[in-house]
Amino acid sequence: MVRDYLDRISAHASLNAFIEVYKEEALLAAASIDDRFREKLPPGRLGGVVIGIKDVLCHKGHRVSAASRMLEGYVAPYSATAVQRLQDAGAIIIGRLNCDEFAMGSTSETSAFGKVLNPLDPSRVPGGSSGGSAVAVAAGLCMASLGSDTGGSVRQPADFCGIIGFKPGYGRISRYGLIAYASSFDQIGVFGRNLDMVAEVLSVIGGPDDFDSTVFPTKVPDYQVTIPEKRPFNLAYLKNALDHQGLDPEIRTGFEFFFEKLRKAGHRVDGVDFDLMEYLAPAYYVLTTAEASSNLARFDGIRYGYAGKPDQLVDYYRNNRSLGFGREVKRRIMLGTFVLSSGYYEAYYTKAQRVRRLVRARTDEIFSKYDFIILPNSPVTAFPAGQMLNDPVAMYLADIYTVFANLAGVPAVSLPLFRHSNGMPFGAQVIGNHSDEAGLIQVSSYFMSNFRMGD
Ligand code: GLN
Repeated sequence: MVRDYLDRISAHASLNAFIEVYKEEALLAAASIDDRFREKLPPGRLGGVVIGIKDVLCHKGHRVSAASRMLEGYVAPYSATAVQRLQDAGAIIIGRLNCDEFAMGSTSETSAFGKVLNPLDPSRVPGGSSGGSAVAVAAGLCMASLGSDTGGSVRQPADFCGIIGFKPGYGRISRYGLIAYASSFDQIGVFGRNLDMVAEVLSVIGGPDDFDSTVFPTKVPDYQVTIPEKRPFNLAYLKNALDHQGLDPEIRTGFEFFFEKLRKAGHRVDGVDFDLMEYLAPAYYVLTTAEASSNLARFDGIRYGYAGKPDQLVDYYRNNRSLGFGREVKRRIMLGTFVLSSGYYEAYYTKAQRVRRLVRARTDEIFSKYDFIILPNSPVTAFPAGQMLNDPVAMYLADIYTVFANLAGVPAVSLPLFRHSNGMPFGAQVIGNHSDEAGLIQVSSYFMSNFRMGD
């Protein structure tokens, strides 16, 4: 099986999904799983499952670069908890996957290793920032993959590539060994083609970890895809999201049709007011860039990262950071530094924190009456390549539907339910209450088996 995946990876090299493929190592790992089968020993819960990991996850003894020149040649001295747990369960890590530099972006075009192409239409982007992780699964180059989702980087590329992308709630999976973008938002997420695989991977990597105190202390259950007894569901959608002027009318119609089908099946589907819609993307970009400016301060060429020729100390830092980082990362460091600076802190950072608190309060209010919230993932299907590169504000605004779950800290999944007349897929985003990953997986499997449209 590993040979087969390796062949497929070479045949699809033009997609640029992998930064590095661990050929010899994956074959060796496969041989040792074969031995276990032969000796009738348990192969492990994920024995022989072939998995790719986004290039922001540390994997001991392997390079990790966040797709940046800044970390050229850097070798991880330890493994991320999620990666370690995969390996302990018998999974075979087949390689590291391309993404936007430091996970900042929505197109997978800002990588220092070149852009990633969408396998369904190579003239379009695969989404981002975890584009390589989505493409690897969509093109059948591995069985599942890990990405990270700070503001949609798992759900949006899953949406653009027609697969499942699951972002657990904040605190479900340890972030130990995940290169930080915005620490109060970042979560590791899982890509798969079916929910069984996603549920298995989540059951293995989730749960408490001594190395990350922000993880919930409760153990994760074995997530099951069995369809829940408790039905019908009370479902909410945000009226202000569906009425948004930027939403492709065909996506809106798709959702209206979906809601009708749900109602016919006996579920309650209500549109609820959500006045904070316009504040979501601005609050997200103020808070995440602020956190990023602090997280990325360590990459100065001395403690970490790209180092040029030492001359004058201040010039040395400046040159290292100027040459080591790409444009989008620099833009965000500057924006984040600005919103935290004296005189502007109250007007931007503090205000955005207040918005975040209101978003959380309103989310709790909605979940006191409803089981799940349904939203699009993106206002449009996969962007044409290059379209967003010179219009960062347009790119940021396209994140309105995904950043909501990260601001609130709740779990959310992108399910490939629809197809657009332009031939591209689009998904439904289903959002669960705090700590309800188990319920979210179950409702997702119910939706996937009964409400796939336009295939
Ligand atoms: N597109 C969003 C951003 O650029 C999300 C990125 C992410 O989730 N890592 O910030």
